[in-house]
Amino acid sequence: MSETASPSAPAMEQELNPWLAAETRFSEAADRLELDYGLRRVLRVPEREITTYIPVQLDDGRIEVFVGYRVHHSTARGPGKGGIRFAPDVSLDEVRALAAWMTWKGAVVNVPFGGAKGGVICNPIMMSQAELERVTRRYTANILEFIGPEKDVPAPDVNTNAQTMAWIMDTYSMHQRHTVTAVVTGKPLNLGGSRGRTEATGRGCRIVTEEALKRFSMKPEDTRVVIQGFGNVGSMSAKLMHERGFKIVSIIEWDGALYNANGLDIPSLMKHRAATGSIVDFPEAEAIDREEAMEQPCDVLLPAARENTVTSANAHRLQCRILCEGANGPTTVAADEILAAKGIFVIPDILANAGGVTVSYFEWVQNRQGYYWNEQLVNERLNELMVAGFTDTLAFAEKHKVNNRTAAYMLAVDRVAFATSLRGMYA
Ligand code: GLU
Repeated sequence: MSETASPSAPAMEQELNPWLAAETRFSEAADRLELDYGLRRVLRVPEREITTYIPVQLDDGRIEVFVGYRVHHSTARGPGKGGIRFAPDVSLDEVRALAAWMTWKGAVVNVPFGGAKGGVICNPIMMSQAELERVTRRYTANILEFIGPEKDVPAPDVNTNAQTMAWIMDTYSMHQRHTVTAVVTGKPLNLGGSRGRTEATGRGCRIVTEEALKRFSMKPEDTRVVIQGFGNVGSMSAKLMHERGFKIVSIIEWDGALYNANGLDIPSLMKHRAATGSIVDFPEAEAIDREEAMEQPCDVLLPAARENTVTSANAHRLQCRILCEGANGPTTVAADEILAAKGIFVIPDILANAGGVTVSYFEWVQNRQGYYWNEQLVNERLNELMVAGFTDTLAFAEKHKVNNRTAAYMLAVDRVAFATSLRGMYA
């Protein structure tokens, strides 16, 4: 295919399927590791997939049945771990891919968890808090026997937050007849949450970006950053990078994009968004076309929203030096080749956004120990694990002469395969 030809609709549909992407990348890593055929069969598929129907009474009295999923990809290295997302377009293929990515992510930063993910098909923007609470509690009740501190530990993801985790913790605890804080992470601070958890994914993105800058002898204050998405990951990355002197020249959201050549004042933008509900009309920036913002010359492009923002349709127009994947699965397999040909330094999602699960691990440890750390300790240990994940990934890339993504997958698959083979097959 030439650079400018757009792929056919069925080809694009295939390209955008996250489960196919997860499988393709796993297979490539398994091939290069010359992974045993049996282990390959085991790790290619999830251990368990739950589809559950969630009847909920809406505020107007009607009963609606929502569809929810929880997928356990691997529990070879420890309990399943991964967020729960609420969105209208959630699908089993998406949740399955996200569960596998959690397995690889936990292994890259070497936390003792497997991989899992959940999702509920619903439109949170159209729902009241009371409706969201009822959906969350009934979903939790429906998957009750499959979660627990030693089984599977959910966390926030797209459109879920600390309040959602408090409802899950309470529902689970009511059934156990005692409070079980370690059943979820990302809880509110005064309910067993960890200091630094809200910022953790963004902080991790900053840590690995700074590691990458060192390789290019670049300084934060000379680094122009474009961030796509201003939810938890995007806004926290922006805030923490801004504090370090990075120039955040553009923020791209679903309803508009901003540009300021001197760097946006992020705390002031956060205030504007809190007051108006949107980044649009922020007085200290120009409005810019969303695609133009993605494709402008910059040093770091940080996609921090959903899957498939960098595809074969736009990858050849990107002008960044570093792509730091704050989102899960923002780059398609077809786009990978284009980025490689352009020499863009990719910090793959399973490394770049692993700060969240890392501090989730710290939260789980603190809950089980009943002893809470100060923020400095959390951040120091996060830094240690993120830098180790980055260094291990780059060492694999050099040793095996592969790109960073393949290296991260190889590192992760190697660790999970080793644990799986040590445990052996229970018959
Ligand atoms: N949802 C986050 C992720 O995709 C965090 C998962 C967790 O902390 O378990 O990595």
